[in-house]
Amino acid sequence: MEDLLRRLLSGEIRLRNLDSELGDSNAAADVRLAFLERLTGVDLGPLRRARLDFNKLVGWNIENPIGEVSVPVGVVGPLTVEGDYARGTFYPLLATTEGALVASVNRGATTITMAGGAKTKVLRDGMARAPAFVAPNATRAAELAEWAVQNSDQLAEWVREVTRHGRLKQVQPLQAGRTVFLRLVFETGDAMGMNMVTLSADRIVRGISELFPDIDPVALSGNVCSDKKAAAVNWITGRGKTVVAEAFIPSELLHKRLKTTPERLVEVSWRKNQLGSSVAGTLGGFNANVANVVAAMFIAYGQDPAQVVESSTGITTVERWEDGVYVSLTLPSLEVGTVGGGTRLPYARAALESLGCAGGGDPPGSNARKFAEIVAATALAGELSLLASLAEGSLARSHAKLGRGGASRSDR
Ligand code: NAP
Repeated sequence: MEDLLRRLLSGEIRLRNLDSELGDSNAAADVRLAFLERLTGVDLGPLRRARLDFNKLVGWNIENPIGEVSVPVGVVGPLTVEGDYARGTFYPLLATTEGALVASVNRGATTITMAGGAKTKVLRDGMARAPAFVAPNATRAAELAEWAVQNSDQLAEWVREVTRHGRLKQVQPLQAGRTVFLRLVFETGDAMGMNMVTLSADRIVRGISELFPDIDPVALSGNVCSDKKAAAVNWITGRGKTVVAEAFIPSELLHKRLKTTPERLVEVSWRKNQLGSSVAGTLGGFNANVANVVAAMFIAYGQDPAQVVESSTGITTVERWEDGVYVSLTLPSLEVGTVGGGTRLPYARAALESLGCAGGGDPPGSNARKFAEIVAATALAGELSLLASLAEGSLARSHAKLGRGGASRSDR
């Protein structure tokens, strides 16, 4: 170790060479951690590798590993979901450090279950990648766009060369001056699909370049995709899964479990989710706290946390309905998978298994859609509970109690 640290500090070897130098990525991680400790004078023990096996992750999920972070995971439920893919009673997991979040979502989940459960539906499913092409002029750019739409069968054939589960569904051209973006939408089976669609788009770009040598394929991703950014194109046309979850909550349950009334809940939801969000000029934030649940579930189930940006855009509605309320949540671009990426990590796999949707589904795509429906139903539970909490004025109180040690202090 001392010799390696000396060579690292002198610049004789680099941090990224340690895996091959030692032939063991776990040992390499320990050396990197020690190097950082030496350099910064800080005890990094809390970040030390505890359970992950970097020999299985380097080359797939991480480079230059030094250790791992621990995030508390809480359970909510029972949550009954009656969807096209998710059917039954589930106990979703939330990885968070925000006190009161699990308690709040749990309250919403059990209320929804007592009311008969949430209905869910995947309205659209398609992952997009949009390469940018620069043509000599706008007319030529439009020619490429037209050719791509008319020859989508040829494009789909190229895609079949690089993936078994990826299927080109649609070509959506968007043009600005002489730059044309081909927004390519793919089915991706149970994978969230970003690597798959990037490889597929690359194959398409190579094919187009041979046929249109005068057009410059300037960027494989031209931001019209739109990955890891809140964008109107995802909001309107969807990206990943477009999912809706809904439930009917009778007045009696609202009163007993959530301490509020239908009228008050409708009023709070409209003034906050619709009016307040309009005044703020939000892009896709017509909801109370969808990002809380999406982020917590993305971390617990090995999803790409950076995609929380677009995956947590959504519209929450609360409407007066017979003797109670109708609540719904629509998520236009929920990007999730049960295969590939972080779902390879043992904790994520176990978490997905607990919902009955780890790995590839039969038929392909059914596991990812099941997971998407459970995320939407859990987020709906979070919406219901937070709105009720605002309606009855307990938001600050519950955070003071559960987010500042109040509960444990009073337990003593
Ligand atoms: P992936 O693990 O790269 O690809 C999925 C793999 O699983 C493919 O090899 C696929 O084979 C195989 N597979 C087996 N059974 C499958 C099934 N039932 N459904 C779908 N695929 C199945 O995963 P990905 O979802 O494409 O990419 C996710 C990763 O991309 C994440 O780590 C994310 O952080 C990262 N990412 C990449 C970019 C980028 O620009 N490349 C951007 C954002 C995020 P076939 O292909 O032969 O079907």
